[in-house]
Amino acid sequence: MPRIDADLKLDFKDVLLRPKRSSLKSRSEVDLECTFTFRNSKQTYSGIPIIVANMDTVGTFEMAAVMSQHIAVSSGSGQNDLEKMTSILEALPQVKFICLDVANGYSEHFVEFVKLVRAKFPEHTIMAGNVVTGEMVEELILSGADIIKVGVGPGSVCTTRTKTGVGYPQLSAVIECADSAHGLKGHIISDGGCTCPGDVAKAFGAGADFVMLGGMFSGHTECAGEVIERNGQKLKLFYGMSSDTAMKKHAGGVAEYRASEGKTVEVPYKGDVENTILDILGGLRSTCTYVGAAKLKELSRRATFIRVTQQHNPVFS
Ligand code: 5GP
Repeated sequence: MPRIDADLKLDFKDVLLRPKRSSLKSRSEVDLECTFTFRNSKQTYSGIPIIVANMDTVGTFEMAAVMSQHIAVSSGSGQNDLEKMTSILEALPQVKFICLDVANGYSEHFVEFVKLVRAKFPEHTIMAGNVVTGEMVEELILSGADIIKVGVGPGSVCTTRTKTGVGYPQLSAVIECADSAHGLKGHIISDGGCTCPGDVAKAFGAGADFVMLGGMFSGHTECAGEVIERNGQKLKLFYGMSSDTAMKKHAGGVAEYRASEGKTVEVPYKGDVENTILDILGGLRSTCTYVGAAKLKELSRRATFIRVTQQHNPVFS
């Protein structure tokens, strides 16, 4: 008989962070930089842990230059993928991150693949996903992954939930997966579902070590594609990595590793990404001030979520 798990599972929109007494005088006192040492690779990372999604339109070199972060090598889990990745990593010894990215991180084949990559690259930091439950986070970490990507179906241009009926509310997924990962000294990325700076703060509050954003970074100057002018409006194209647009562009390569399709949308042109980044970082600093966290790393320890029926006043939205 099918089982119904009646435990309450929540999304970012279902909660707010409760303000707490704080000795911080101003948001400029908040330190957003985090330092992590990864469990299996033993490599160390320092930086503000916000990552641009590995998608055609937003994951561009121009974006990376602004984010001034490192571009991990990303791979599916087939034999060809392994050969291709090996040749790239041999050619580019400075690349220290490997991202093993499949839509469904639950297959036994994927676990075996993570073990294979760990054996071949003992000192690279391996990110693996996507999953949404603690037991799978533990299995992937014990198989050699350092950072687990969490999120099935929350993405802005993702149609997994409507196509397959599969998914997990992102806030609960992050809380549960962070708990499992941290118990083993592993790390997680909350991947997808953030719609505003407040959601990024909630993801960190829920225990995410890194937050990955696609839609929030779309539509900027640094994104791929031209600005489209229509009816006096400036727009830019943004599409999911398994949308028709991506499929055509990559001639089937994407279809193999993404189970379900994505959307292609036109989003308002938002100017330079610098402004959006400052908006997100300003929001995060304020969140930390409201809950009394002097460092971003302390945010989850200071976070109490309250369940709400309305996040914001919609009169003028
Ligand atoms: P967003 O920040 O836009 O809500 O979510 C970004 C995440 O959506 C990406 O990092 C990736 O995990 C996921 N994603 C990107 N393209 C697709 C797609 O075509 N299909 C699905 N199912 N997920 C996608």
